Amino acid sequence: MDRRAFLSTLGLSALGGIAAGCGLSLEDGLFNPCLADPLPKRLLDHEMVRAAWEGVNPSRFWDCHVHIAGVGDGGSGVWITPRMKSMLHPWQNLQRRFYLNAACTETEGSVDEDFVRRLAHCLNAFPAGAKVMLLAFDFHHDATGARREDLSAFAVADRYAAGLAQRLPERAEWICSIHPYREDGLEALDWAKKRGARAVKWLPSAMGVDPASSRCDEFYDALVRLNLPLLTHGGGEQAVHGGSLQEYNNPLRLRRPLERGVRVIVAHCASLGKHEDFDRGAGGFRVDAFALFKRLMDEPRYDNLFYGDISSVTQANRTEPALAMLLARSDWHRRLINGSDYPLPGVMPLYSMRRFVEQGYLNEAQAGVLSEIRRFNPLLFDFILKRSLVQEGQRFAPVVFESRRLFVGDV
Ligand SMILES: [Zn+2]
Repeated sequence: MDRRAFLSTLGLSALGGIAAGCGLSLEDGLFNPCLADPLPKRLLDHEMVRAAWEGVNPSRFWDCHVHIAGVGDGGSGVWITPRMKSMLHPWQNLQRRFYLNAACTETEGSVDEDFVRRLAHCLNAFPAGAKVMLLAFDFHHDATGARREDLSAFAVADRYAAGLAQRLPERAEWICSIHPYREDGLEALDWAKKRGARAVKWLPSAMGVDPASSRCDEFYDALVRLNLPLLTHGGGEQAVHGGSLQEYNNPLRLRRPLERGVRVIVAHCASLGKHEDFDRGAGGFRVDAFALFKRLMDEPRYDNLFYGDISSVTQANRTEPALAMLLARSDWHRRLINGSDYPLPGVMPLYSMRRFVEQGYLNEAQAGVLSEIRRFNPLLFDFILKRSLVQEGQRFAPVVFESRRLFVGDV
């Protein structure tokens, strides 16, 4: 179905209503225009872009959260559930369309390759040395350790992510994804480490991993031995439809790997949704996931173990108090690292520059420049936006954007 037919089926006004209700925005339109030209010089040389790089060493700029989008054409290592292609599952179908549009990969037959080309194109606007960390994504596995395609939405094989990083050696690193209940889990981890994986990525609710389970202990010990951090999703999850195991994303469940000495990076600083506060006993209240993230950040014994990635914290559907606190807590900044969650910065309704102006984070002129950059390059947009935000005189410190330090052992 083409875009226009798709929209008329759904009804643009209805979608506008849904968008507003979810805290989303249509101010930059519904779809990424995917402009093919390089970023115009007046934007590339813009004062905001120059200011953004001030104090940030590009060779330490490793965007730690970049998804590999695709559909598995051309024999790549991407797998998506047939449900995502089906009009019988309109929500999943819609998500898939936004996701692929965000990565400008809509040509039937070359979707996976288009993703790589577009990402490389976006990276051209970054100084030499700056890199992205590409994320593999394992299947859902059940309690017996069996792979369950019927419960999975999306998967990216380790060997594919490793291969892409090899193809773009100046621009990409990679992060493996291995379910800890897999019988060959430790073997797979060794293989990934040898192939240069810099960390392990989990999305516990979608993959069916309970980070608080003793079944993960051997895996945790291997992470410590191999000096690999665990990058794991915290808080509510809307981007990948999978099992309904949201409680697995509760940051408090990460006490288990922390107690075993694993370095843990919580994706998005758990800035969405609510979880049970089981520190206060079973059946405890549900509180903001971010409050639980904050609690762990403030426990001195996790000082050199517990980190947050700031991917997506600028999205319009996330709680603004989380962003305000992340900016204000400059004592945390050495434990925060940047990630873009690319291609999500290209999902137009997920961001609102207008709201940032209303809340005093940006001025009108900055908002205009950011919207322009975004039309050419959502990856660069994400970085310039985060470097430009200011609240009560506080900004993200340059160290937040030098994520490399967490992955090469010089923390
Ligand atoms: Zn993500």
